[in-house]
Amino acid sequence: MGVRVDSVSAVQTRRVVVIVPAAGSGERLGAGMPKALALLAGEPLLVHAVRSLVADPRIGLVVLATPDGLEESMAELAAAHAGAAPVVAIAGGATRAESVSRALAVVPDDFDVVLVHDAARCLVPAQVVGAVIDAVLAGAQAVVPGAPVVDTIREVEDSGGSHTLDRAALRAVQTPQGFPLAVLRRAHARGDAAATDDAGMVEALGLPVVLVPGHARAFKVTTAQDLVLAEAILAGEAELAGEAEL
Ligand code: C5P
Repeated sequence: MGVRVDSVSAVQTRRVVVIVPAAGSGERLGAGMPKALALLAGEPLLVHAVRSLVADPRIGLVVLATPDGLEESMAELAAAHAGAAPVVAIAGGATRAESVSRALAVVPDDFDVVLVHDAARCLVPAQVVGAVIDAVLAGAQAVVPGAPVVDTIREVEDSGGSHTLDRAALRAVQTPQGFPLAVLRRAHARGDAAATDDAGMVEALGLPVVLVPGHARAFKVTTAQDLVLAEAILAGEAELAGEAEL
């Protein structure tokens, strides 16, 4: 039987798998439910996040790490907004790193690039997702979006004193973070208790981490105040779009 050209090109262009750790309890948000299911403009954060990610046509699979028992319902919810990308879900672990490890375990080897994206960064713009994928496909071993730091940051010293860091040289790290699939597998197999994100685990292998420009919209919804901010961003954009149509 011949292979259809369109199916071959679809396989070749969908080279990216995205892992969405969404197993957090959402205690700090205080919504009384897992954070990924908290509503923003009438839809769960997870739905906004998945929609933002699959806007990039290279994404060929979404793997969710969910709270125990919610695998099926959250996969169904995400799949309704994932376009052509299939969605699978596994129960997450006690920590974010463990949730990502468990998700990695079900990723088939035929993907080139893996992204890890927090469901809580639900409004990440398409250009950030695209820039991370581009940089990995261009040969980077680890890619993170970094946003300029607006606060003056002081480092606390053991002596009890503190000193100011050079703000111009600092970046606040966002997601999605991107890696060649084999590199992230190696980093998770080794593990690094000190790392606070996936790029940190890859860095512990001795590999460089490349920065691409982050974006204010990629902020993480952590507290009730963040949810108000996200609502305001969407309302402002809807108003602008309405004005443009007039
Ligand atoms: O708690 P925090 O906001 O830093 O979590 C970042 C992301 O990691 C969230 O999307 C959360 O759902 C996810 N997470 C997870 N498994 C855990 C803890 C957090 O998937 N055990």
